[in-house]
Amino acid sequence: MSTLLITHPAFLAHDTGEHHPERPDRLRAVLAALDGEEFSALDRTEAPLATIQELTRVHPAEYVRAILGIKPAEGELAMIDGDTVMSAGSAEAAQRAAGAVIAGVDAVMSGTVRNAFAAVRPPGHHATPDTPGGFCLLNNVAIGARHAQARYGVSRVAILDFDVHHGQGTQAVVEPDPSLFYGSTHQYPLYPGTGAAREHGIDNNVANVPLGPNSGSEEFRMAWGERILPALDSFAPELVIVSAGFDAHRRDPLAQLRLETEDFAWISEELLAIAKQHAKGRLVSALEGGYDLDALAASAAAHVRALMKA
Ligand SMILES: [Zn+2]
Repeated sequence: MSTLLITHPAFLAHDTGEHHPERPDRLRAVLAALDGEEFSALDRTEAPLATIQELTRVHPAEYVRAILGIKPAEGELAMIDGDTVMSAGSAEAAQRAAGAVIAGVDAVMSGTVRNAFAAVRPPGHHATPDTPGGFCLLNNVAIGARHAQARYGVSRVAILDFDVHHGQGTQAVVEPDPSLFYGSTHQYPLYPGTGAAREHGIDNNVANVPLGPNSGSEEFRMAWGERILPALDSFAPELVIVSAGFDAHRRDPLAQLRLETEDFAWISEELLAIAKQHAKGRLVSALEGGYDLDALAASAAAHVRALMKA
């Protein structure tokens, strides 16, 4: 059983303009790191376009139509909000980023691979059903979770998010629905300002552990080990989806957590162990943030290395 890497050249055509941290070079750095001999055993496939039906399991049809209808001329940019930008290639990239997670779900549910990593942009965890933001247009992981439920009848899907920012878009989908679980560590306070521990969803199906600036490996591992992983274990997911952001790394310029590359290997192994325990090893991971190119590449490589060893 192998690990599937899902990506597409369209992700590089999502142009956010000069000096934007969420830039195509991020994905180039990740893919270059996964190009080495060590990763030659990866199965590789191109991300399909998610269908409108798949997208509207999370987002209202009107929202999907509006986002996919934003097509600036070549070389021009449309500002969606203060930090979220679309170019001529963005709608296709967003539709394929969601499609990548869906392809990962299809692959692990059909048993052709054990787990999958979707190397995508734009990221998705800040997109609520009806509002883009924080560099995100469509909520890739929530769309993947709904696909697993609709297509395969999976009754319990967990989404775990170790990006340094709180995935308030994902939480908005999860919190009223006990068939879903969302667990997140994130720097707090920080954009988007949500993710307090008191936000615990319905029936404690949301587990938020906010971390103060300058928290490092010890606080991170304690948060997961003592709070989120036990709650996840009780939830007993039949499928594990990961919002894999690497911006909690100490080198990252957008936040002030102090994780080391090895911490991303550690959390990956912990999540894989829960997937093995409850979900036949089925885990689909999708790239979210990570803005220092070297730290991002090394951390994503550590993550994928763990997936391949599972
Ligand atoms: Zn982030």
